[in-house]
Amino acid sequence: MSSDKGYLPIDGLADFNKLSAKLILGEDSHAVEENRAVTIQCLSGTGSLRVGAEFLAKHHPQSVIYVPNPTWGNHPSIFTLAGLSVEYFRYYDPQTRGLDFEGMLEDLGAAPSGAIVVLQACAHNPTGIDPTLEQWEHIRQIVRSKGLLPFFDNAYQGFASGSLDSDAQSVRMFVADGGECLIAQSFAKNMGLYGERIGALTIVCTSQDVARKVQSQVLLVIRPMYLTPPIHGASVVATILKNSEMYKDWTIELKGMADRIISMRHQLYEAIQARDTPGDWSHIIKQIGMFSFTGLNEKQVRWMAKEYHIYMTYDGRISIASLSSKTVPQLADAIHAAVT
Ligand code: PLP
Repeated sequence: MSSDKGYLPIDGLADFNKLSAKLILGEDSHAVEENRAVTIQCLSGTGSLRVGAEFLAKHHPQSVIYVPNPTWGNHPSIFTLAGLSVEYFRYYDPQTRGLDFEGMLEDLGAAPSGAIVVLQACAHNPTGIDPTLEQWEHIRQIVRSKGLLPFFDNAYQGFASGSLDSDAQSVRMFVADGGECLIAQSFAKNMGLYGERIGALTIVCTSQDVARKVQSQVLLVIRPMYLTPPIHGASVVATILKNSEMYKDWTIELKGMADRIISMRHQLYEAIQARDTPGDWSHIIKQIGMFSFTGLNEKQVRWMAKEYHIYMTYDGRISIASLSSKTVPQLADAIHAAVT
């Protein structure tokens, strides 16, 4: 790893950019081979979203950006402050505590041509609900046929299924059709590099010529913002991605984390079942990633905080990653008491 503390170029560490693009797009990506993908080191996922949004606000003809309802709380502010105008598409169905797939397709189908659509690549925050691959294919078709521009937020690659490749399938499906898209990539969660602020913005273009122009314009966005990105996190990521031993260790640890989260979901579901708690709680095991939308309402959430000192966001979202075998029974007791 480099101990160099000099400036990086505006677009960051070249090795890091190359390896990050391969991680999300795949080893044999045509977009990479054809030099149609521009990757630029940015300040983690948030910085990548912001740089992408500033670039789009300046150069994309359509300034409307659609985000899922609900979505990560920071999305609307990031896009609004960049000068885009935020609209929502239906995503969560409170009845099924699953995906409102029909509503999503209907809203995307009604979006104006050229509108930008934010899609979370996997482990949707805050709901934990991801489309199936078949549903992704329908989404892709509607996005392409309406001429919408997909902007993927890829904050949890490897964290959902435990496989970096499986979690990248939604993005790769869109890239494989040869169309344009943007991808904001974060190494905060999957490498535990939260405070290093390390991520990347990849813009997949339709030709090498367009990619070259896009790159020069993104550099003009970054220069007056923070000039160049920090070096240390990029160097850590690049070191791991290019060393086969370290890479293997990383994937094993990543799978360990994802499997533990999945096992917590099962333990919580079984504990709730064992208490004969009213209602269908299968959404807890159907959802994926760090978060679960429990379906608890604000009144129940406030009651659990007061009576059990168990705290969660008022929309009923919990972090499954923070549960352990020891705390699952306490949570199941509290949920049971809150709904009965
Ligand atoms: N996108 C989503 C969906 C997130 O949940 C988060 C963090 O919680 C981020 C992006 C940004 O994270 P970071 O800027 O730390 O990479």
